Formats: sequence, C-alpha cells, structure tokens
Amino acid sequence: MSDTSDSAAAADPAGEPEPFTYNGGRVDPGESANVRYGISETYLGDPVRIPVTIVNGARPGPTVFLSAASHGDELNGVEVVREVAHDWDHSVLCGTLVCLPVMNVPGFLAQQRYLPIYDRDLNRSFPGRSDSTSANRMAHRIFTNFIEPCDVGLDFHTSTRGRTNMLHVRADMDDPEVARLAKAFSSNVVIDGEGADGTLRREATEEGVQTITIEMGEAHRFQRRLIERALTGVASVLAEFGLHRESSVHWPGWRTVIDDENDKTWLRADAGGIVDMKFESGDLVYEGDVICAITNPFKEDEDVERVEAPFTGLVVGILENPVVYPGNPLCHLVGLSEDTRKAFERDLEAGRRFVDRFDR
Ligand SMILES: [Zn+2]
Repeated sequence: MSDTSDSAAAADPAGEPEPFTYNGGRVDPGESANVRYGISETYLGDPVRIPVTIVNGARPGPTVFLSAASHGDELNGVEVVREVAHDWDHSVLCGTLVCLPVMNVPGFLAQQRYLPIYDRDLNRSFPGRSDSTSANRMAHRIFTNFIEPCDVGLDFHTSTRGRTNMLHVRADMDDPEVARLAKAFSSNVVIDGEGADGTLRREATEEGVQTITIEMGEAHRFQRRLIERALTGVASVLAEFGLHRESSVHWPGWRTVIDDENDKTWLRADAGGIVDMKFESGDLVYEGDVICAITNPFKEDEDVERVEAPFTGLVVGILENPVVYPGNPLCHLVGLSEDTRKAFERDLEAGRRFVDRFDR
C-alpha cells in the first residue's frame, strides 16, 4: 500500500470509528442501513426516492462511495454496486461504503439515459442547487448527503445505447490522489482528463472527493464478465485505501494511460448507411486496416465508404447498432506505446484472454 500521509483518504487508523450522518439519518460504526431517500416528487406528489446502502465498518478508515445509473439505462454498474453492498463480507471493513446503485430513478424506470423531465442529463447537473431546476435539485440532494461526506468515489457507466465499450477508467491523472485511485482500479486502459462540467466525477473531485468513472460495456444489459472484472477493481481499490486490509492490490498485466489528444480519436461516419463492422471492442487494429464499410441498401460497390484506422491502436468503443447518419460515431480508437503493443501481441499469440475486453 502506498503512503497516505497527505491524503484526504488518510483517516487515522488508530482513531475512533465515526458515525456516518446525512440529512435525516445516521449510521453508527459496525452498522449498515438500507435507505430509500427522497430526492424529488412526481406529478402526483409521490416521493422520488433513490436506494442507498450505507455500510459503516466497526473499524476506522476512509469513506468511499460507489454510484451507478446516473444515466438511467446503464445497468452493469447497478449490479456491481449491489453486489459490493449486499454480497460481500464487511465484517472486517475499515471505513465506510456509501452505495448508490440507481441515482437517476426516473430514467431507470423509463429505461432511458436522461431524466424524462425535459431530457435533462443528471450527470451534467452536479453538484446541483437547491433553488434551481428539477435536475439540479435532485443532484443537490444526492451530492450534499452522500457524496460530500466521502473521501473517494467510483462512478460506474456504460457506453451510450447502440454502442459498447471495453472496460476502462476515466480519470484526471494530473491529480495524484485521483491517479492513485485510477491505478488501484487496475484496468488496462486509463483515459486521462478532468471530465465535463457537471459530471459527478469532476464536481466531486473539485470538492476534494477524488472520483473516477468506470466505463464498461453497453446499456440495457448485465454483462457478467465485465461485472466480475469491475468487482476485482473495487476489491483492489478497497485494498489500496486500507478498507480491506487482508486484500491485495491487483495488477492488470499491462496498463496504458492515454494522456495525449493525438492518441485517441472517435472515427465518425462521413456517409449515411448500413455499417459492416469488422472489429469488436478490445481488438487491436493496425494503421490502414479497414475498420468498417458503410454500405447503401443495394450494396453497390462504388457507393461503399471504407473507414480505415488512422493509426495502430486499441478499439475502446464501437458501434453496435449498425446504422449511421453522417457524423455518427463508429469507433473510439486509442494509441498504444510500442511496449504495450508488443505485450498485447505476445498475449494474443499465447492465446491469453485480455481481461477487460468483452468476449461474447
Ligand atoms: Zn453514462
């Protein structure tokens, strides 16, 4: 474990464990609570309540939040958070877990990304405001009660509907504590950047709650292999930050941090059409490889647009729903260093499975 002496997460291990408090409740050390917490009201005046599980360990340590479904149809993280909250043994927990499996309840009920009210994006509404729009008020209730009291956080997402991602982390690697958290999650790929205004990751980090986003798979599904892989990442984070002293930090075998704008690109369609995709997320492509062909209804050769890889790299995200307008994204490609590419090729030749890749 690395030195935590100047860390916000450096709860004094010799100190007394503290209760976790939020507006309306309290969870004492050694106790856990399942709460349905009101963040808004429906047209009928009924409460809109999010499920929250707080697990306060008997021993002192950092407070970590795990959140999912701020985009209501992104489900893989829901299961990750539920399993950590309810299936794991927390008898030796040092610190507190704040588990928020479904933040965007109206979107979750409708199985859509945005809040159904004027299609607002809850994940652009943090930290929120108590006197503003409905989305801002919901974000404010979540942020002040369950995010601000934490030291670090993990926010789980998937790709947007119609596309898929290999599992990867997004993090502001210029912040040493965020970088520590990102590395501890032990994904093969980390994409550097502070994130857009209003995202939970960026706003929490600015409040001193160092937070990363985990992107994994596609919307509307539970993808078991990715969920298991993410659970390994959570266990590794809890080990690194001292919440699970008996566990150890996981090493993914190789890691690449994408911190140069030139090393990542979203290839977009320049023609509308039906897409014949040649690769999957997690594939290695070489410069000049044809990633896909955009065809017309008659499969006429002269009208086919072939999209080539502009550089050798890894397919991090890719289109699943094979229809595009001009301008729609086709493939998220990131560059690999020479060493990483060689390690990757050695693994492929040896038939070793690449863990963060989604294998059907
Ligand atoms: Zn999302």
